[in-house]
Amino acid sequence: MTVRRFEACSDAELAAVAADSFRREFGDEPDGVWAAPGRVNLIGEHVDYAGGLCLPIALPHSTAVAVARRTDGLIRVRSAAGPPWDGRLDDVGPGRPDGWASYPAGVVWALHESGLLAADFGGVDAAFVSTVPIGAGLSSSAALECSLALALAPDADRAAIATACVRAENEVAGAPTGGMDQAAALQSSEGSALLLDSASGAVSHVPFDPRAHGLELLVIDTRTPHRLVDGWYAQRRAAVAAAARRLGVASLRVPADRGRDGTGAVRSLGDDVLRRRASHVISEIARVRLAVTALESADFAEFGRLLSASHRSLARDFEVSCPELDSAVESALIAGALGARMTGGGFGGSAIALLPTDKVDDAIATARRRAAQRRLPDPAFAVVAASAPARRLL
Ligand code: ADP
Ligand code: MG
Repeated sequence: MTVRRFEACSDAELAAVAADSFRREFGDEPDGVWAAPGRVNLIGEHVDYAGGLCLPIALPHSTAVAVARRTDGLIRVRSAAGPPWDGRLDDVGPGRPDGWASYPAGVVWALHESGLLAADFGGVDAAFVSTVPIGAGLSSSAALECSLALALAPDADRAAIATACVRAENEVAGAPTGGMDQAAALQSSEGSALLLDSASGAVSHVPFDPRAHGLELLVIDTRTPHRLVDGWYAQRRAAVAAAARRLGVASLRVPADRGRDGTGAVRSLGDDVLRRRASHVISEIARVRLAVTALESADFAEFGRLLSASHRSLARDFEVSCPELDSAVESALIAGALGARMTGGGFGGSAIALLPTDKVDDAIATARRRAAQRRLPDPAFAVVAASAPARRLL
């Protein structure tokens, strides 16, 4: 069986496909085409709701939307990945509509609620196409939201657009996520990772160009849908909040800022589970800081070690990995990766590995062989670079 790869395409190609889809769906020319990328988080997992730091890059894979304004108030959204939806602003609000349309409809609603939608908004036709795998933990949802939000509010502040997209996802789609995905889609910069401080919302850019050093970042999609809406996410959030309460701090960012790994602080937490959950969060925030320092001096060996340490912490202490993710990470390390980790919320989705260029094929073969031996789904792969943020294509 051939290797499954999920490929990105050029902006020109993506724009042409989106415009074609618009013509087919609506029988007319679009006013323009906008796009927003998916992301992988390099490091800093499950720390956003503890006021922590994360370090995503924008992927070369993007969602594009071809749009045309209307004057009759109708909102019509189309995608090959879901049924058509037609409605009006009055039909949208917390919990409605359901299904995939909750994301684009939610964006219109959230932009309106935030005062970012043009006063003369009279409805919109929107056709989406995407090279971001859906539900693979690579943030197809934020790519969809941010492409449309930028199309509808092209002159608005990007941080404000990101906040509106988070509201769309949290309140309308009902998915409990932080702001990393939307910040990565809107505020990244090509050739850099985005350092996002979720306590303040501040962002900065950290150089990330492993290819210039003979290395590649490989994304391994386990093809096991991540299960974000199940109860475990709420349980982890509750444990992190409970640990902070017991320590008498506003968030676990506070002990993380005080000491390198916060070992002293977590020792005083009586409960073993709380101790391990807090230990992950505090040590992970420290690892993000060390990773930034490593990248600033292009120390990819150290950066790789931090990736692997992050995975161990997520697997053993935070307990959000799964056999598919562990298998992908182990395979990459066996093949000679400098480091590897699960990325995204966990329980499925994708892993990343930093590899010498000449070890990539070996890592792919090893990951496929081990998955087959364990009767896990055959993974899909992409070699990625830190790519451009949301933009107008046409
Ligand atoms: P991820 O963002 O990691 O891909 P999510 O579960 O957060 O996974 O979001 C996936 C959901 O987003 C899909 O189930 C679908 O409702 C919606 N979605 C994302 N991209 C598209 C698309 N191109 N067309 C239709 N729906 C999409
Ligand atoms: Mg998502």
